[in-house]
Amino acid sequence: MDDDVRKAIRGIALLNASEHDGKTRNDSVISKVLGSRPELKQRIKEIIPLISEVVSEVNSIPHATQKAELESSFPELLAAKPKQERTGLPPLEGAEQGSVVTRFPPEPNGYPHIGHAKAAIIDEEYARMYGGKLIFRFDDTNPENERLEYYAAIKVGLDWLGVRYDRVKNTSDDMEVIYKKAEEFINAGHAYVCTCNKEAISKNRREMKACKCRAGDLSQNLKRWSDMFSKYKQGEAIVRFRGSMESENTVMRDPTLLRIIDEPHPLHKSKYRVWPNYDFAVAIEDSMDGVTHAFRTKEYELRNELYYEILERLGMRKPRVLEFARLEFDGMPVSKRILKPLVQDGKVSGYDDPRLPTLEAMRRRGIVPEAIRKFVLSLSFTKSDTLAPFDTLESFNRKIIDATSIRLFLATNPARLTVTNNALREVEIPNHPQKDMGKRKVEVDGTFFIPGDDARQLKAGDELRLLELYNIRITKAGPQLEAEMTGTDFRSEIPKVQWVPAQGAVKIEVLVPKVLFVNDEFNEDSLETQQAVTEPYYLGLNVGTEIQFVRYGYCRKDSANQVIYTHK
Ligand code: ATP
Ligand code: MG
Repeated sequence: MDDDVRKAIRGIALLNASEHDGKTRNDSVISKVLGSRPELKQRIKEIIPLISEVVSEVNSIPHATQKAELESSFPELLAAKPKQERTGLPPLEGAEQGSVVTRFPPEPNGYPHIGHAKAAIIDEEYARMYGGKLIFRFDDTNPENERLEYYAAIKVGLDWLGVRYDRVKNTSDDMEVIYKKAEEFINAGHAYVCTCNKEAISKNRREMKACKCRAGDLSQNLKRWSDMFSKYKQGEAIVRFRGSMESENTVMRDPTLLRIIDEPHPLHKSKYRVWPNYDFAVAIEDSMDGVTHAFRTKEYELRNELYYEILERLGMRKPRVLEFARLEFDGMPVSKRILKPLVQDGKVSGYDDPRLPTLEAMRRRGIVPEAIRKFVLSLSFTKSDTLAPFDTLESFNRKIIDATSIRLFLATNPARLTVTNNALREVEIPNHPQKDMGKRKVEVDGTFFIPGDDARQLKAGDELRLLELYNIRITKAGPQLEAEMTGTDFRSEIPKVQWVPAQGAVKIEVLVPKVLFVNDEFNEDSLETQQAVTEPYYLGLNVGTEIQFVRYGYCRKDSANQVIYTHK
């Protein structure tokens, strides 16, 4: 065996040990070695014993010595590290280069939101990081809550985010397989059909007691199973997993695997009436789809035992289930339970209301997909739930849109100003201070609008500069200001104010979204509408254009007469 191979292995083992409190493992090192040197796959038989040897050598030396050797002999491995840190994601346990498969499995029961973005982006980033694949799978086995509109909205949301997937599928297209697995379970005694009522089932589960159905024989179960497709009514029979009614983990107390739902399915209409629940469907699908790393939010953690046990008993391959924290913003909940009533009661205008955490709302508000990705990857990868400050997302967004936002003047609650000795007819103003985004010609005739807040501060004798134009001195204060032009030289000590020519001023409304909930109460003042005027140039901009209104903030053009405030 070549010395350089041995040396490469030693470096990888040392690095891995340094990242895991001084202990490395054969499997981690094997996957990393093959990841960095795929050509060694052909010599795997000689490599494996060599790796075991190196791993036990490395594990037998003290942590500090490992570190010293790593620094002196393998500085290049340490230098390469920031590349991984850049994405913010820690290495994926047990991941092999080229064979990672992740999936994003939304249920089409609502509009995609920032939490879905987190899940989809992490799934995608890991798939890319390891040269693997991302499956986009609709977990659509609960027809009561699912609608075609939501399939479409989720797909639109992912495409907008720029999440690229390698395959898209629906769990509901695999119903025949799922039925086969259910029958396998019933035949093997791993599941039984229970006809107890809901209350009795919950009571028994609380009290750790089995019901009579649990003792039913195979012929009873098979008969009942076939009756589930015709005779029983919804709610009269369910297939239950034979777990343990005494388990400390309540999930394992004979949970439901399949139930009857008569509501037609958005894709399959009335073709099926027996539907798997989440645990059964997700385990089978993940395994069949070749998923290697299945992420979900941490409230599912107790369900892991069931997930693995279902696959164990079906003799199916087990993906690794990993958890991350749910993401939501302070005062901006993502849960459908909370958002649905707001839309239904007309408290917000729809799922694209700019106060909401939906992707559609983010887009309307002027948050760009790259900012969401950077933001998600900047979150620490912990399991504790993250109530992220919206400011952090805003600051990523600002850095990105600043370079492409056109600068315009806007006056809110406008006040009229007349410059009595105006001699200019037209000025040319650059659309961006640094970038070449063109210039616009603005006609002036001495009558202007300036922001009401600025106007109120002015007294006769005050001097100020009308930005990009000239300096003036106020001759008359009040609601109809008058002033005289005093010069054009730039003077840093006087205040600067933006203006809009009164001739041709375009009336617009600025919607300013504020926090939706304060102390768990709906904030009735969560949407402020400001009356404003802006330059005629605004009319020629496309809907969706991001504008920085000078001295005001970034806004996105939402329609001919409305912009939405993005952030400062
Ligand atoms: P909800 O119904 O409250 O929107 P969910 O978990 O039922 O949430 P799904 O459509 O089933 O939503 O979720 C698809 C994927 O997105 C799952 O992997 C889920 O764990 C993840 N996900 C959903 N909400 C969040 C969130 N707030 N933060 C992070 N990931 C989330
Ligand atoms: Mg859901």
